[in-house]
Amino acid sequence: RAVIHRICSGQVILDLPSAVKELVENSLDAGATNIEISLKEHGEESFKVIDNGCGISPENFQALALKHHTSKIADFSDLQSLTTFGFRGEALSSLCALCNLTIETRTKNEPVGTHLTFDHSGLVRAETKTARQVGTTVTVEKLFSTLPVRSKEFKRNIRREYGKLISLLNAYALIAKGVRLLCANTTGKNMKSVVLKTQGTGSLKDNIITIFGLNTFRCLEPLTLGLSEGLKVEGFISKPGQGSGRTLGDRQFFYVNGRPVDMPKVGKLLNELYKCSNAKQYPVSIIDFIIPTASYDVNVTPDKRKIFFADEGCIMLPLREALEKMYSPHQC
Ligand code: ADP
Ligand code: MG
Repeated sequence: RAVIHRICSGQVILDLPSAVKELVENSLDAGATNIEISLKEHGEESFKVIDNGCGISPENFQALALKHHTSKIADFSDLQSLTTFGFRGEALSSLCALCNLTIETRTKNEPVGTHLTFDHSGLVRAETKTARQVGTTVTVEKLFSTLPVRSKEFKRNIRREYGKLISLLNAYALIAKGVRLLCANTTGKNMKSVVLKTQGTGSLKDNIITIFGLNTFRCLEPLTLGLSEGLKVEGFISKPGQGSGRTLGDRQFFYVNGRPVDMPKVGKLLNELYKCSNAKQYPVSIIDFIIPTASYDVNVTPDKRKIFFADEGCIMLPLREALEKMYSPHQC
């Protein structure tokens, strides 16, 4: 059973980005306004996510990292009105099976914090008191060490996974309002470099300027579409002919109700309509689809990056129309 659990866990936590993503989403779900992601050797050695969220109360310690333990969903009908990132209770239990996991946490009701270490089956191995602020720190050491083949692959691909992670953190940093995000990587003995830092005060516009700079922002124009009842599209896309000379899909961020998702169809549509004489240019896009929660399903893949729309046409058609209007007079 332990082996099966390990294999299944490797399907929830696929790589470095998905592992960090789960922790960052937990911090956001906990209402954190300050989230620090700290990596050692690009995450190969270890990484931790430190937040100032609500913390975890002691009565939840024992079950915390057991499979399907979640504090976020009470019954099935809740799935229809879900606003938290997590709801399956799989992330911590999966991580436990794949690495050495420790958690430090304190709620506002506790005078001191607690340091917890877990075994690979998700049981608390040791519990000690520690001084800390209200909030939670989750530390992952030696990800995939329990899966030797995956571990080798992980180490070999670490730079690429790290690159993907930074792009993913950018996706969260762009959309997060009122949340300060900081990501730093430490290599060698003590070479710490900050790779991402936002002030968390801003609007989407401010976040774009902080993360990509004013020059990139000047090449964008707002995209606002009021579709039907309760359905809106908001964001920024490249002005005609002013895309980014980067690779396809880079700097294209899509969200549903503020949740970063993959939208290959929208990306394809955008690239198709954008068409510019400079074939190496692709449109930058940061687009949030604001949709009633009952009309889509994020429960399709374990990483919740794929979205299933009840009625895709009502999004794609108006979007196509708007993009055509914007880009077609400028086709080169
Ligand atoms: P899920 O997010 O689907 O509920 P997880 O395995 O990611 O499942 O987390 C299990 C539970 O642990 C959460 O429901 C939450 O109660 C608690 N938790 C995890 N991380 C944090 C955090 N950073 N702050 C507060 N609570 C947390
Ligand atoms: Mg979670």
